[in-house]
Amino acid sequence: NVFAETELHDDLKNNIERCKYVKPTPVQRHAIPIAVAGRDLMACAQTGSGKTAAFCFPIISGIMKERLTSQFSDMPRGGGSDVAFPTALILSPTRELSCQIHAEATKFAYQTGVKIAVCYGGAPVGQQLRILERGVDILVATPGRLVDLIERERISLKKIKYLALDEADRMLDMGFEHQIRNIVQQMNMPPPGDRQTLLFSATFPDNIQKLASDFLSNYVFLAV
Ligand code: AMP
Repeated sequence: NVFAETELHDDLKNNIERCKYVKPTPVQRHAIPIAVAGRDLMACAQTGSGKTAAFCFPIISGIMKERLTSQFSDMPRGGGSDVAFPTALILSPTRELSCQIHAEATKFAYQTGVKIAVCYGGAPVGQQLRILERGVDILVATPGRLVDLIERERISLKKIKYLALDEADRMLDMGFEHQIRNIVQQMNMPPPGDRQTLLFSATFPDNIQKLASDFLSNYVFLAV
C-alpha cells in the first residue's frame, strides 16, 4: 500500500485502506506530498482523476495533526453556538459534486472526530443549519448558498486554514467569480498568511490564472 509511505495521519491511513484505495492515482501521488508539506497548489485534474482524495487527505490529516499538538484541542468548533467556524472550506460548483465530496470525505474521516458538513442551494436551509449547529471542521459548499449563510451570520470564515477550490474553471463558467471573491475576502488570513489554498481545475484560461495569482501564495503548479 503506497499510501502507507506518505506523511498522512495513521488513523486516516487506516481509513484509506478500508476504502480499498491501494495505489494513488497520478494526481494523488504528486499533489498529496506537496499539500502535506504545506504548500499552496494549483493542479490540473479531470473528473475521475482521484482529485477528491488529493485535496481531502492532506486537509483531514492536517486537522488531525493540529488537534494532537494543539493545547486548544478541546476548543469548541462552533458546536452549540449559532455561528459555525469551520477550519477548512471546500468549494465546488454543484450540489451533486458537493454531495459526492461530502460522502467521500465522510468515509475518509470515519471515527477520526473530524466533522464534515455540506451546504448547497436549491434545497431548504433548515436541515443544513441544524447540522452546522453541531459544529463543523470541514465545510463543503456551493458558492451561492455559502454567501447566503455568511450573510445570515450562521457561518464565519475567520478560522479557515485550508481552502480547496474544486473544478474552479466550471465555477467561473457558471458565473460564481463574484461570490468566490466575496467568500475568500471573508477569510482572516490573506496570503502569505496562515491559510493553505489548493486549486483544482481541468483547464487554465486567463481567468483561472488570475484567480490563482490572487488567492494562492508561492504555489506549485502541477500538471499530470
Ligand atoms: P474523483 O476523481 O475524485 O471523483 O474520483 C473518481 C473515483 O475514483 C471515485 O469513485 C473514487 O472513490 C475513486 N478513487 C480515487 N482514488 C482512488 C484510488 N487511489 N484507488 C481506488 N479508487 C480511487
